[in-house]
Amino acid sequence: MSMKIAVLPGDGIGTEIVAEAVKVLQVLDLPLEMEQAPVGGAAYELHGHPLPEGTLNLAKSADAILFGAVGDWKYDKLDRPLRPEQAILGLRKHLGLFANFRPAICYEQLVGASSLKPELVAGLDILIIRELTGDIYFGQPRGRRTAVDGLFPGADEAFDTMRYSRPEIERIAHVAFQAARQRGRKVTSVDKANVLETFQFWKDVVIEVHAQYPDVELQHMYVDNAAMQLVKSPKSFDVVVTGNMFGDILSDEASMLTGSIGMLPSASLNDRKQGLYEPSHGSAPDIAGKGIANPLATILSAAMMLRFSLQAPEAADRIESAVKSVLAAGYRTPDIWSEGTQKVGTREMGDAVVAALMGNGAGKTITTITKS
Ligand code: NAD
Repeated sequence: MSMKIAVLPGDGIGTEIVAEAVKVLQVLDLPLEMEQAPVGGAAYELHGHPLPEGTLNLAKSADAILFGAVGDWKYDKLDRPLRPEQAILGLRKHLGLFANFRPAICYEQLVGASSLKPELVAGLDILIIRELTGDIYFGQPRGRRTAVDGLFPGADEAFDTMRYSRPEIERIAHVAFQAARQRGRKVTSVDKANVLETFQFWKDVVIEVHAQYPDVELQHMYVDNAAMQLVKSPKSFDVVVTGNMFGDILSDEASMLTGSIGMLPSASLNDRKQGLYEPSHGSAPDIAGKGIANPLATILSAAMMLRFSLQAPEAADRIESAVKSVLAAGYRTPDIWSEGTQKVGTREMGDAVVAALMGNGAGKTITTITKS
């Protein structure tokens, strides 16, 4: 049975890097049906909306979504609901993508690109799992008003609401414990239980869920300490699970341990294991169209897609080893280039991964791609 992938390249370097990931998927011996649609600024230009109905329907009907990036400074003056970034929020909401996976892996060949000492990051392989649809980012009520109490009654003030319900915490905790079972069997739950009622509740519920996973070690850590430990001894973590806001900050911090933002894949999954797969970086308008963007984060996101949504873990392993062999062979886009390595562009890097895959015994192409 063929598997359907919605291909949404988006804006800026999105089109360049997604083209390389599609190229890689096309040389796998898998029955993949890929259909492309505009999203973000590109969709606004064509249809007057960053997430047109056609694109949303395609995403809903697909087994997985391969997403590039959206955004450009030229859209900054649009009304908020029409800005490109709203497309990604809309997809998360409509598809219920509550679990965000961000692996931070430091490839042996790129140890020198990290801002930390090589011995701290060599062999680093951690997974940050961020709850994506709750917390203070979505909690109601929120807004602006005149203060009736507090330190300055009568002054203008703004407020947001931090909240988590039991089912929201339970489902992300299950995701984290199950992911840990495939890895190092350790979960660090990051909270601020010493100050916030929401995160005392988070901690209580995580402890309850942990009772079903006695084979996984559970550790609790306050978010301020977690931020410190991530740069002090990042390898002491295996799976980190946390709320939307803390996860937003910690996942960016963890990503920088690995050297380049151009290397970092991500996945956002719902409870049907349908997922949106995208690089952790944005649309990089500063280098768009120059053919120098690093496509590896997107190619590695495609590997995550095969593993988590398309039940093709062997194909995922093959892509990941092809990326490692390309790095070992010395190919580098400018963001990861160093003396003594070979500088290549976006397309050449994609070609090198394809060549490594073919060398690894890739089969015939039976993929199709259509544009809607
Ligand atoms: P960015 O991630 O696009 O770029 C930050 C820096 O990293 C830039 O110098 C860029 O050239 C570099 N960079 C990013 N990806 C790279 C790659 N693959 N290879 C080489 N270098 C790379 O972040 P930004 O500049 O803050 O934002 C640009 C636009 O992207 C904004 O409109 C923002 O809203 C949007 N954005 C979108 C997403 C998304 O689509 N999920 C995420 C973040 C930012």
